[in-house]
Amino acid sequence: MTSQSKVKIAIIGAGPVGSLCACFMAEYGYDVTIFESRTDIRLMQTTTGRSINLALSERGIKALQFVGLDNILIEELTEPMHGRMIHSTDGHNYSIPYDIFKKKCLYSISRKELNGVLLTKLEKYPNVKLNFSYKLVDIDFSSKKLTFQTVENQQVIILPDIVFGCDGAHSIVRQHMIRLPMFNYSQSYINHGYFEINLPNTKENVLTPGHLHIWPRGTFMLIALPNKDSFWTCTLFMPMDKFPLILESGKEEILSFFNKHFKDFVNLIDPENLIRQVISGKARTLISIKCNPYHVNDSFLLMGDAAHAIVPFYGQGMNAGFEDCTILNQLLNEYDHDLKTVLRMFSLRRIEDAEAISDLALYNYIEMRDLVTRKSFLWRKKIDKILYKWFPQKWIPLHSLVSFTTIGYKQCKLINQWQDQVIFRMLILFSLFIGITLFIVLTSIILK
Ligand code: FAD
Repeated sequence: MTSQSKVKIAIIGAGPVGSLCACFMAEYGYDVTIFESRTDIRLMQTTTGRSINLALSERGIKALQFVGLDNILIEELTEPMHGRMIHSTDGHNYSIPYDIFKKKCLYSISRKELNGVLLTKLEKYPNVKLNFSYKLVDIDFSSKKLTFQTVENQQVIILPDIVFGCDGAHSIVRQHMIRLPMFNYSQSYINHGYFEINLPNTKENVLTPGHLHIWPRGTFMLIALPNKDSFWTCTLFMPMDKFPLILESGKEEILSFFNKHFKDFVNLIDPENLIRQVISGKARTLISIKCNPYHVNDSFLLMGDAAHAIVPFYGQGMNAGFEDCTILNQLLNEYDHDLKTVLRMFSLRRIEDAEAISDLALYNYIEMRDLVTRKSFLWRKKIDKILYKWFPQKWIPLHSLVSFTTIGYKQCKLINQWQDQVIFRMLILFSLFIGITLFIVLTSIILK
């Protein structure tokens, strides 16, 4: 029996992050029990409340590698997305590749499939117990007492050694931490929300594969991600106060809105199907959460959305949560499984990066819905592309830094600020050079 096998770990939430964290701890031989308030996601018809599919990128893939799931997931369950396909208002489409030189791409994967694969993996560990329909309702931090409510309305009390709070953006673990001294917390809902539409892929009507499709319309946008079973998950992001104008209007208004702003999209979907989805749909809010620290004493730690929920515009929420597992793993090795130190160091090592990706994700919304249509943005992308081609190790564009490397998010932000300054100085020098040349040419003409 290893010393790890004597340590009882409770993981709250069997979402993507809780499930992966459980795999990591199980690999080291800890005695792991997961508690999930919902039923088993693999048995659900639909996954309500959250996006149907997710873009998986480098940080997520690296974490999945540790438990040997990266290849099977990528090869069997994902659709690659090599770039953005922009649908302009005039019907003209153009592709902006993500990483033209290193050929890196994002992978679109169904939330249900991904979560299901992780749960199936967990079932194979003899040292893991899975409890569905167990909702955490109370915590006593000093005695480490957790109280759960089951579907039969029974109360179950457990006393674990270590608790990982992976219970998502509206975390109960975090809600209890808020009452503790020296725990800092802030949350903000952005003014924009989202609404999902399924687009079946018929033989006559297809979107160009291998892309994340975007219909940027200034203050709002529609996006489409491919699914393995050949339909597209489309998400309309727009200000929350504009949704009732569409969702609560009549059939004609709905069609006229989509025809006006997304004409080529309407051509791809049966109008009755579109109207049915819109009428029965619901706009969902987007929240951004920051807190500090992530740990309490030597026994509680927040991870994933529970610690740092972010808006989804960089496709990094789950990837950042998976990267939490990689950081946890590094710390377990660095501090020889001294969990007290590991938990404290996790807060120190992770918070600044989580805050940086939160800011970058907010910025990316403006880029996706508005900047991608502007000439200045496209020029900036061209300069990035040239410099990236000449100096592939030194000049990596921001999107590639975030999505295709594991450089800390804070460092990515700093590198991008430095790149902005370099380009700004280059433009000033270039303008000065043109000005001086013109001056010399004109004066020499005049003096003749
Ligand atoms: P969750 O997925 O929220 O899982 C938490 C789990 O805890 C749930 O199963 C819940 O039932 C359970 N739980 C909650 N309360 C309790 C309780 N009291 N007791 C027991 N269990 C409990 N991320 C990406 O990386 N790429 C993307 O492309 C992407 N797209 C997104 C699109 C949208 C529209 C949205 C909203 C988010 C997107 N995200 C994306 C973010 C991603 O969904 C989250 O970051 C990810 O789901 C976080 O995983 P998690 O396990 O931390 O939390």
